[in-house]
Amino acid sequence: MPDPLIEHWAEDIACLRLPMPAFGGVNALILGPQNDRVIVDTGMPGAETAAIWQSVLSDPDFGAVSGVLATHAHVDHVGQVGLLVRQTGVPFMMSQPEYEDIAKLVSLGLDQRQAIATDFHDLGGFSVEGRGQPIDYSILAPFPEPLLFLKDGETITLGGITWTVLLGGGHSRAPICLLSLERGLLLAGDQLLMGSGPQVPAQAERPGDNALGNYFRFLDCLDGLPDDLTILPGHGDPIRNFKPQVERIRSGHRQRLERFLDGMSGPLTCAEMADLVFAKPSKRLKARLPYLTMAMANYLVAQSKIVVRPGSNPRIFEKA
Ligand SMILES: [Zn+2]
Repeated sequence: MPDPLIEHWAEDIACLRLPMPAFGGVNALILGPQNDRVIVDTGMPGAETAAIWQSVLSDPDFGAVSGVLATHAHVDHVGQVGLLVRQTGVPFMMSQPEYEDIAKLVSLGLDQRQAIATDFHDLGGFSVEGRGQPIDYSILAPFPEPLLFLKDGETITLGGITWTVLLGGGHSRAPICLLSLERGLLLAGDQLLMGSGPQVPAQAERPGDNALGNYFRFLDCLDGLPDDLTILPGHGDPIRNFKPQVERIRSGHRQRLERFLDGMSGPLTCAEMADLVFAKPSKRLKARLPYLTMAMANYLVAQSKIVVRPGSNPRIFEKA
């Protein structure tokens, strides 16, 4: 695989760095030897990434693809699933909840997504100004149906490596992570990233989900794994300080929750919560605040720290 975008992370694991306007690109991982390549995640939709895959697939050194797997339903990971599955005809794998989410998103037109997002912003009490535009997933139609739904705890051989499937949660509903204790590897998709870690958002389509609770549960589950695992993430370089990074991410969430509870002097909306928790957010972060604050609020409600005023819209939260 001579392509300059390909980095070799191990003898039988390569990372194809695909373009993306944010996060310095998105990783597609290629597992296995030349006669048994399994592609994990596919990059953004559009001609630029499609052309990269065409050139990779047409390179005789690349060899034969035996499977395509999408870790989760976000656009930067599923953008070229259609092209790869149609072109190679190989089995496609996802988790069932993530497939349900992508199938729903693909079925909605941009107008419908816009209407759902508007309701969600209203629920959070956010002003109309500065609202981000939802992503139009309908361009991914027809989205291939997975041949295999991977389940939590199952064992699967991909690219000649035996993996245990761990279904995470929080960043999205039930993303696939692949653990090889033998190789000391955790392929984590976006469940573990450098810096402050992945965003943990509520979804506009599922505004009551306890995404942050699900994410904490995932982090707790990592505590039981060996300290010396190397994390293969969906963005950026391999993470070698696994446990300190888990702790950094967890304490970042805890600190934001504390800032919120400490600053809460009376009833408030998610928009007011955002001002307490996120000082001077960038424009990009600002557009995400309705989703991040709703996830925080839902977590604190589930923890019985705060309650929702019944029937309120925008939702009003009060100390329990
Ligand atoms: Zn991503």
